[in-house]
Amino acid sequence: MEGTLQRPKHTAELLQDILERAKALPEQGKVADYIPALAEVNPDYTGIAVAELDGNVHIAGDAQIPFSIQSISKIFGLTLAMERMGDALWQRVRMEPSGQAFNSIMQLEWEQGIPRNPFINAGAIVVADTLVSHYSASRTALIQFVRSLANNPLIHADETVWQSEREHGSRNAALAYLMKSFNNIEADVETVLDHYFYQCSLNMSCVDVARSLAFLANRGLQPSSREIICDPRSTHRINAMLSTSGMYDQSGEFAFSVGLPAKSGVGGGLVAVVPDYGVICAWSPKLNRFGNSCRGMYMVTQLAEELGLSVYS
Ligand code: GLU
Repeated sequence: MEGTLQRPKHTAELLQDILERAKALPEQGKVADYIPALAEVNPDYTGIAVAELDGNVHIAGDAQIPFSIQSISKIFGLTLAMERMGDALWQRVRMEPSGQAFNSIMQLEWEQGIPRNPFINAGAIVVADTLVSHYSASRTALIQFVRSLANNPLIHADETVWQSEREHGSRNAALAYLMKSFNNIEADVETVLDHYFYQCSLNMSCVDVARSLAFLANRGLQPSSREIICDPRSTHRINAMLSTSGMYDQSGEFAFSVGLPAKSGVGGGLVAVVPDYGVICAWSPKLNRFGNSCRGMYMVTQLAEELGLSVYS
C-alpha cells in the first residue's frame, strides 16, 4: 500500500536472511585477545535478536547463547547511577564524544580526571565508583537490576573472564588511579575496579540484551513488567550519548550510515535502540579495527536499512 511502511518479509525471515548473508561475507576481523579469556570463544558464533515493544522477540542463529557483554554493561551501570545520583553525576563525567580510544589515558590527564562520557572506560569507572559508594553490595544491586530487566534469573558473571580482566586490567587501573589523583574516585580503587570488571564479565544472550533494554525504546517504561526504569529525560540522555559515543571511534560513521543509538562491546555484541519499536542485539566475536563486531555491524546495518529504522529520517 502506498504511503505505508512495506515490510519486505516477516521479521524472522528477514533476520535469517541477513544472518546468512553475514556468514557468507569474506572472513574479516579478529577476536579480542587483550583480555585472554575472551579469545577462547568460538569466532564463528553469529546471532541476532529483535525484541519488539509488544513482547514479540524474533531471533536468528546463535541468539540464545550467552556471551560476554563487556562494554554493553556500561548502559546498565549508567542507568542505575543516573537514577541514584541525579544531575550530580554530570559534575564527574561529561557527555561529549571523546574522539580517542575507549581506554585512552591522555585526554583524562589533560581534562583533569573528568572523563568525556560514561561509555569510555574512564567514564564507566566513575559510574562504578558512584555505585560502589551508594550500595553496600554494588555488584549484587547490579546483577539484580540486570536480571529483573531481562526477566532472566540465570544471568551471571563469567568467573574466568572476571578473573582474566583483573589480571590484565593494568590500563583500567591506571585510569582509575589517575582519576583518584584528581579526586574523581571516592571509594577504594581496587573495589571500584572489581565492580567494573564484574559488570564487564556478565554473560547474556542477544535475547537477554534486547529484552533488558526495551525501556530505552519506550521512554523509560519496561514494557514487559510495566515498571518505570528511568524517566523520559534520562532515556533521552542515554540514547543521545549512545548515538554520539556508543560505537567507539566509529560512532560518527554508525550515526551517518545507520542512525540508531547503539553500544557495542569487545565480546562482539552490538545493541541498537529503535525508539517506539524495540531493541536489536547482534553478536559475533570477530571485531573490526575500531572494536566493533564485523558481522554485528553488517547485520544491524542491513536490518535498519531494510526496515527503514533510523532516528534521523
Ligand atoms: N572489559 C573491557 C575493558 O575494560 C571492556 C571493553 C569494551 O568492551 O569496550 O577493557
